[in-house]
Amino acid sequence: MTPQPDTAPDLAAPARFDTLPLDAKLQRAIGDAGYETMTPIQAKAIPIVLEGRDVMGAAQTGTGKTAAFSLPLLQKMLRHENPSASPARHPVRALVLAPTRELADQVAVNVKTYAKHSHLRVACVFGGIDIAPQAAELKRGVEVLIATPGRLLDHIQLKNCQLNQVEYVVLDEADRMLDIGFLPDLQRILSFLPKTRQTLLFSATFSPEIKKLAQSYLQDPILVEVARPNATATNVEQRFYSVADEDKRRLITQLLRQREIRQAIIFVNSKLGAARLARVFERDGLRTAALHGDKSQDERLKSLAAFKAGEVDLLVATDVAARGLDIADLPAVFNYDVPFNAEDYVHRIGRTGRAGASGIAITLATRDDTRLVSDIEKLIKKTITLETAELENDRPPRRRRETEDTPSHSESRPAFPAAAPMPMPTQRPVRSGRSSHDPFFDRPYEPDPKATPVWEDSPAAPAPSAELSPVSGLTAKPRRRIASLLGGKAPT
Ligand code: AMP
Repeated sequence: MTPQPDTAPDLAAPARFDTLPLDAKLQRAIGDAGYETMTPIQAKAIPIVLEGRDVMGAAQTGTGKTAAFSLPLLQKMLRHENPSASPARHPVRALVLAPTRELADQVAVNVKTYAKHSHLRVACVFGGIDIAPQAAELKRGVEVLIATPGRLLDHIQLKNCQLNQVEYVVLDEADRMLDIGFLPDLQRILSFLPKTRQTLLFSATFSPEIKKLAQSYLQDPILVEVARPNATATNVEQRFYSVADEDKRRLITQLLRQREIRQAIIFVNSKLGAARLARVFERDGLRTAALHGDKSQDERLKSLAAFKAGEVDLLVATDVAARGLDIADLPAVFNYDVPFNAEDYVHRIGRTGRAGASGIAITLATRDDTRLVSDIEKLIKKTITLETAELENDRPPRRRRETEDTPSHSESRPAFPAAAPMPMPTQRPVRSGRSSHDPFFDRPYEPDPKATPVWEDSPAAPAPSAELSPVSGLTAKPRRRIASLLGGKAPT
């Protein structure tokens, strides 16, 4: 199976929703949500989904993909819409599977918004919370069910829901579902579904595993891809600072103050690191919450709600917990740890600069992170320059003077003397799967050069470049290219 690429012409101007053959109930909901024009993934995918084709979507959270799949599916389901109270009249017609509770919840919030003027019922089930209310809701009947795989299997086993009338299936963030180890669960769930159905799969990457999944469960899909929101978007300013581990926290508080950043997510690589760092920031007087896998579902939802409500300044999070979070107006993301997997960098910084807003993503790299930063550089296809920030306080700067301004052989060495290593795992399973031989699936993510994400229409913040002015209040030294740290020629 080779997916056919979508050959629809790119529209010169962003297309308006009112040009789509969508029911007035959906158009009203779209208007209520304040959307006017479609995002690129919406403009491409909605007509294809309306046509009834299977879709492989290369798009991430933040691109508007939830509306891209749910609006056309709701449109198709409207023919089943009825006001009856009988559960039998509301069988599950569409099943959306998502890797995390947060993403499932977010998708459900969006789908409910789009379906609010119809009689279609939308429910969301995920683990970590009481199953009884979910069971009661399912038994009353729902047309659209959004679920994480494990909890859905529980409900199937308990016979709380039947999936034999499912017509539409969405595998959202399929790559992450496989990363988490959901493949057996997915296979089981899909085995309960009618063979004749429309299936949509969204994934950030098309690894051999994803390809296999698509081959097994999609029929003649059309590939729909749009530029990653942040691989090419110019509305997120990306800065990289070379800093010793023990100075990271002070640098963050300094930047928060200097840039008057009111809220930020701080990403760390380990659950333990997240918990510790959150405690320290709290001691510093910042209202802080931690979001990681060891927190109960209830705690995670509460932290998120408090953050969204502005009652919390800093959310210290790990990747899995923060995947897919949609927080409006988040001005900044800090990578306290450089992520082990470059793709996580794109996901992390995608938490800011959403829906056209501008944002800043600041990554703190130590001497040990050179390879990881270079991986990011390759993935985002942008030259990364490392800035050296001088901390404004009593402690002397930790830099080695001789390496700053006169790049030489010492460029291959770190800017800082040895710092205490971060308490982070050194062995993280890096996604395998770049070794298949199908050039279609194997090629690195290439943003469609013709696709202009709507977010790029906003005035661009400059990408990191030699001309950038230093962060105010910090003495920024000439920044060195990662390539030069790796032994390449240093810029003059
Ligand atoms: P998603 O990628 O589906 O998580 O969407 C990211 C954010 O963009 C959500 O907050 C949506 O409400 C918002 N959004 C989706 N489509 C549009 C649109 N056409 N115009 C403006 N905002 C949108």
